[in-house]
Amino acid sequence: MKSLNQNVKNLNGFINRFNAGGIKNRIAGKDLGGSGGVFTTLSPVDKSKICDVALSTAVDIDKAANAAHAAFEGWRDLKATERRKLMIRIAEAIEDRAEEIALCECWDTGQAYKFMSKAALRGAENFRYFAEQVIQARDGKHLKSPTLMNITSRVPIGPVGVITPWNTPFMLSTWKIAPALAAGCTVVHKPAELSPVTARLLVEIAEDSGLPPGVLNSVNGFGEEAGKALCEHPKIKAIAFVGESRTGSLIVKQGADTLKRNHLELGGKNPVIVFEDADLERALDAVIFMIYSINGERCTSSSRLLVQNSIKDEFEARLIERVRSIRVGHPLDPTSEVGPLISEDHLRKVTGYFDIAQSEGATISAGGATLGDEGYFVQPTLFTDANNRMRIAQEEIFGPVLTSIPFDTEEEALQFANNTDYGLTGYLWTSDLTRALRFTDRLEAGMIWVNSENIRHLPTPFGGVKASGIGRDGGDWSFEFYMEQKHVGFATGRHKITKLGSM
Ligand code: NAD
Repeated sequence: MKSLNQNVKNLNGFINRFNAGGIKNRIAGKDLGGSGGVFTTLSPVDKSKICDVALSTAVDIDKAANAAHAAFEGWRDLKATERRKLMIRIAEAIEDRAEEIALCECWDTGQAYKFMSKAALRGAENFRYFAEQVIQARDGKHLKSPTLMNITSRVPIGPVGVITPWNTPFMLSTWKIAPALAAGCTVVHKPAELSPVTARLLVEIAEDSGLPPGVLNSVNGFGEEAGKALCEHPKIKAIAFVGESRTGSLIVKQGADTLKRNHLELGGKNPVIVFEDADLERALDAVIFMIYSINGERCTSSSRLLVQNSIKDEFEARLIERVRSIRVGHPLDPTSEVGPLISEDHLRKVTGYFDIAQSEGATISAGGATLGDEGYFVQPTLFTDANNRMRIAQEEIFGPVLTSIPFDTEEEALQFANNTDYGLTGYLWTSDLTRALRFTDRLEAGMIWVNSENIRHLPTPFGGVKASGIGRDGGDWSFEFYMEQKHVGFATGRHKITKLGSM
C-alpha cells in the first residue's frame, strides 16, 4: 500500500502543471481562456490555491456549442466499429492514468483515496461498457401491421450539454459522456466550478486517444452563467444534468424556450430500513458504508436509518462505537476513510444541521464537531432520538451525517420511508422474503437494494422518482435519452386509401 508521503509526492508531479498554467476551456481541440477572466479553485484539504480556471460566459458556451454542432455530422456518421474502437482506447487511457486522476480528484474534492482510486477505474468501465453497446445503438424494431411493414431505428439527437456536480466528478462525468458519445452525440461539458481538474483530464485523455476535435468540449464556470447559457443554447438539443433538485427545476425552466430534452439526476434522502429479522452484522456494515464512505457526499447515501424498535438500542450502540472509530484524515493517506468536505460553504451547511438537530430535540450521539481549521474536516456524525418529521430527517445534508429513526411495524416503516419529497434509492434489510417483495413493491424509490449496499450494475436503470429526478441512465435507457426514435412504415400491398374530393 502506498503511503501518504508517496501519494503527496506523486500528486505534486501531476498537479504542478495546473498550478503553473491554470485550466483553460477546451473547445474544438483548442485551449481557450474564458471571456469572463478566471476564477480560483482551492483544495479543501488545506484551502491552498490549486489554480486559476477559465471563467466562462454565454460567449464561450456559444463557441463550444458551435464546435459541437460542427463536429456532429462527422461523429454521427463515423462507422460504429470505429467509434467503438475509439471509446475502448479512451477506456484504456483512463486506466493508464487512473493514479493521476485519483490523486487529482482527492486533492480537488477532498474525497479519500481509498474510494477515488476505484472511482477512476469505474470511469474507464463506463467507457468500456458503452463502447460495447455502440454497434446496436441504432437498432430498432420491426412492428408488422396488416398493411405496413413498420420499422423503427434510433438516431443521435445532436449536440448535448452535460452539467455535472462536484461529488465524484470524474466518474459521474464519464457516466454521462460515455453513453452520449456512444450514441453518436457530440458534447459540451460544464463541470462543477468546485471540481474542475479531472474534467480537464478527461477531455485531454479523450483527444489524446483520437477523439476528433469538437466532439467533446469542456467549458468551465459557474452554473448561473455558463450552465444557464448551455441550457438556453438553441444548438444544444438535450441537457443531461446531475445536481441538486432545485437546480433541476432551473434546468427545466431555462430550457423551455428551446424545448430542451432534460435528464435530471437530483438529490436524495434515502432510507435504509433494518428489521429485527435482518442479518444485523451485515446490515450494520452496509448502513455505515452507505453514509460515511465518499464523505457522505453521495446522492445514493442512506442518510435516514429506520431501525425497528426491538433492536434499536443494541443496533445504535454498535453504530455509535463504529462511527466514532471512522478514520478522518488527509484524503491522500490510504488509511483515511473520510476526508474534508468540498468547500467552506458546504462545511457550514453540514455543521448547521448540528444546531438544527439539537433544537429539534434529537441527540448527537457521535461526532457533531469540525476537526481543526486547516481544511474543511468534520467528524462523522450520528443523530438519534429523531423522528421522521424533523428537518434532519427530511432535508438532504450531503455529508457524513446519519439520522436514526425508530419504527414499530412494517406499515410504519413504509410510511416513514415514503414520507419525503425524494425518491432516489432505498435499502432494505430483512430475512423475510415475502416482506421484502411486499415492501419493495410499495417503496417509492427509483432503485432499491435488498440485503445489500448500493452495487451499480451498468445495464440496470439508474435514476429517481419524485424530487430525485426524471429519466434513467444505464444500458439502453441511456440511448433512449441521447437518441431519437424514428418510425418508417412501408406499404406491403395496395391497401385502400380513403379518397377525398373524388365523386
Ligand atoms: P448543484 O445543483 O449546485 O450544481 C450541479 C451543477 O449544476 C454544477 O455544475 C453547477 O455549476 C450547475 N448549475 C448550478 N446552477 C445552474 C443553473 N442555473 N443552470 C445550469 N447549471 C447550473 O449541485 P452540487 O452541489 O454541485 O451537487 C450536489 C447535488 O447533486 C446533491 O443534491 C446530490 O444529491 C446531487 N447528485 C445527484 C446524483 C443522482 O444521480 N441523482 C448524483 C450525484 C449528485
